[in-house]
Amino acid sequence: ALAVSLRGVTKAYDNGVMALGPLDLAVRKGEFISLLGPSGCGKSTALRLIAGLSAPSSGTMRVARHEGPVQPGHGIGFVFQEPTLMPWTSVRENVRLPLKLGGIPKAEGCARADAALSSVGLADFADAFPRELSGGMKMRVSLARALVTDPDILLMDEPFAALDEIARFRLNNDLLALWRGLRKTVIFVTHSVFESVYLSQRVVVMTARPGRIQADLRIETVEPRG
Ligand code: ADP
Ligand code: ADP
Repeated sequence: ALAVSLRGVTKAYDNGVMALGPLDLAVRKGEFISLLGPSGCGKSTALRLIAGLSAPSSGTMRVARHEGPVQPGHGIGFVFQEPTLMPWTSVRENVRLPLKLGGIPKAEGCARADAALSSVGLADFADAFPRELSGGMKMRVSLARALVTDPDILLMDEPFAALDEIARFRLNNDLLALWRGLRKTVIFVTHSVFESVYLSQRVVVMTARPGRIQADLRIETVEPRG
């Protein structure tokens, strides 16, 4: 079954910039793919289209997601390079926010937030404030917030680009372990060829703007990783 299917999808912004496509891309449920390509080729645009945050100018798209009770963007988790945490509330409250917006009662929301924090190795930091955390830890909180709604599809836009090498490598391993357990569909935008090959089952390379598919490479893992 397909999680995401784009056919002939293009995106022209209001200023006339043709940002993407025509793009043809099919991602199977549970697949972990990386998206590589030159800056400005439309990778973020593609993620925003898949998330339903903007509409394509032409083409057809299908995104399979469950009809969960949680709004907005239910069925999709989004992680950006900037963790975008609210500084004035605790880590737990930051992670609980999507559930709060979705009307999930506080006790259940807190329990789910704590479980999500535990899954990213931050069980002991629920009561901390974002300013007390390292960059890698903030990224983990952002990942927990994306996972707390139990989305079918996780979209990650250069999530680890701002981290130091060690934090980045730890996060790579932990993300891989999480994915093995959860088997969610992941679309991971990165500029790192190493990261794309290390993490994903498939590396999709885009052309310069407007981005089309240049190469679609299956990664065969010989030794188990992580
Ligand atoms: P599956 O049956 O494996 O779950 P899907 O439900 O994703 O696969 O697709 C069902 C049918 O719809 C397939 O024949 C597929 O080729 C077609 N399809 C998928 N995506 C699109 C699209 N964006 N536009 C038109 N047809 C599509
Ligand atoms: P990438 O993520 O691959 O770097 P983007 O999807 O961010 O590429 O951008 C693709 C192109 O669209 C770029 O030329 C960018 O400047 C342009 N663009 C992105 N967002 C907007 C917007 N909201 N309005 C106008 N142009 C945009």
